[in-house]
Amino acid sequence: MIDKYGRTIDYLRISLTDRCNLRCVYCMPEEGIRQIPHTEILTYDEIMRICRCMADLGIRKIKLTGGEPLVRKDCAQLTAILKALPGIEKVTLTTNGILLREQLEALMEAGIDAVNISLDTLDPNLFQQITRRDCLDQVLDGLKAALSYPQLSVKLNCVPVIKQKENFVAMAGLAKQYPLHVRFIEMMPIGYGKQFPFQDEESIKGVLKDAYGPLIPVTERFGNGPCHYYTIEGFQGKIGFISAVTHKFCKQCNRVRLTAEGFLKGCLQFQKGTDLRKLLRGGCTDEELTEAIRQVIWNKPVSHNFYETETTQDETRVMSQIGG
Ligand code: SAM
Ligand code: SF4
Repeated sequence: MIDKYGRTIDYLRISLTDRCNLRCVYCMPEEGIRQIPHTEILTYDEIMRICRCMADLGIRKIKLTGGEPLVRKDCAQLTAILKALPGIEKVTLTTNGILLREQLEALMEAGIDAVNISLDTLDPNLFQQITRRDCLDQVLDGLKAALSYPQLSVKLNCVPVIKQKENFVAMAGLAKQYPLHVRFIEMMPIGYGKQFPFQDEESIKGVLKDAYGPLIPVTERFGNGPCHYYTIEGFQGKIGFISAVTHKFCKQCNRVRLTAEGFLKGCLQFQKGTDLRKLLRGGCTDEELTEAIRQVIWNKPVSHNFYETETTQDETRVMSQIGG
């Protein structure tokens, strides 16, 4: 399915829950966030029905995210259900890695295609400052478990909230040490992210060049998204940048997002979308559901305007509620 700007939309990100076992400073408050009651969260049956209609419209890839998707019970079971839907080619996961080691075997049996692990530092004290939890070792165990499956595509997502050069160098060094891609994500002014200045891609590349030598652009694409990659001599994996602010990629955007309570959104920045849960629980037919989804896709906003304009249409949900 294409939207009214001619973009092919084939990728759905689903937030399975707004809950999380970390409290990253740019994503969630330390305490006091209103948790969505379980009854207001889409059931797996409801998610499956939406995905079936979406596959009919041309969605081919699904990302499970959150909040932390692995805190929701039976994530592997949902993975298997989604993988079995006709038309769905890939189901992938974005996780903070804490529960990955214990759930990975079930996820692999369910057919998960790729895992993105979010990790911003290898320093235990800095990790605690960023996430407000002392559990770096669990994340590293999850990472090692993921790397023990050579057939699994593993990427590491780093929001460079720690601006020390050594931190960029250490994070990128993981792509030298292991066969995984390390991606630096520019902070977006969504929710608590507004409180943090973003670190631009060029400055990180400069630091990495000094430490490791030239970064050579690669045209090959890895995965569903807007990341562009570089190779460095002697590295097993690539270094990627997802730079929504300095390298706006809206013209190539291929995605829509489903929040945990069933609101389908066309763009991260704006509230615009449709409450699919209301339709589902109001007894809609598959045709009505499909038409509502078609409208969201067709009317997907042309682009975000981060740091340019603020409007009353801007999203008020925080990242953990939307599904980053
Ligand atoms: N809990 C899982 C995790 O951390 O991977 C999945 C959800 S989290 C919201 C998904 C990704 O969004 C993480 O890589 C996180 O670092 C990123 N993120 C959160 N807030 C962000 C922001 N304001 N700007 C850019 N990325 C952000
Ligand atoms: Fe949780 Fe992921 Fe947000 Fe961190 S970025 S608080 S791990 S949802």
